[in-house]
Amino acid sequence: MKGVPLNEELYQYILGTFVREDGILKSVVKQAQERNFPIIQISPENGMFLHMLIKMIKAKRILEIGTLNGYSTIWMARALPKSGKLTTLELEPEHANAARGNFKKAGLNKKIKIIEGNAIESLKKLKKKKFDFVFIDADKVSYPLYFDMVIKMMNKGGIIAVDNTLRDGQIISKTPDDAIRGTQILNEKMANHKKMISLLVPISDGLTVGLVK
Ligand code: SAH
Ligand code: MG
Repeated sequence: MKGVPLNEELYQYILGTFVREDGILKSVVKQAQERNFPIIQISPENGMFLHMLIKMIKAKRILEIGTLNGYSTIWMARALPKSGKLTTLELEPEHANAARGNFKKAGLNKKIKIIEGNAIESLKKLKKKKFDFVFIDADKVSYPLYFDMVIKMMNKGGIIAVDNTLRDGQIISKTPDDAIRGTQILNEKMANHKKMISLLVPISDGLTVGLVK
């Protein structure tokens, strides 16, 4: 293997040196714990990385699939210029309600629109819209379908980023369950798409990043 495997000390060095997570982001994680939401929000360094990618390509229109209570949404929306907009899709009303409150608290409620319901249905309604940056982080079984739908909605030079693509190391399983299989298919689609340059970046649980040529 090339490269240095991370251990706790090296990980804490990176976090401590580079990543600034403010009180609002911390309170979003705390709220998820208090309300017994699943604690599956992206890691702070993953948030920082998405934020940087958005700034690098100067994205103005962002789409997120899977909001939870808005941790990743806030990291991304903060990277937008004044005129920028983010649309985020969430199935669970309890998650969406909490997220709405958090966007307001972060002063981002004018920039962010949350659409409640099954993402597949919401995407059908959005299909004429174009986006510069899409972050996919909802149910893994639907990853291939989400990709097929959003690739048609991308502006040239845009980025699709997909979370949990190492699936806790299970991505190479020869006997995958439906969620792992969905993620394997997604990775293959992104790796082989003629219009994309993609790489699985081993940050947190894996982030597959694809640039639309
Ligand atoms: N991106 C968030 C975490 C998302 S967790 C963060 O990093 O902060 C995944 C979310 O996807 C959950 O809130 C779950 O309710 C939602 N979800 C699951 N299936 C969905 C579907 N079919 N449509 C829309 N949202 C869905
Ligand atoms: Mg995730």
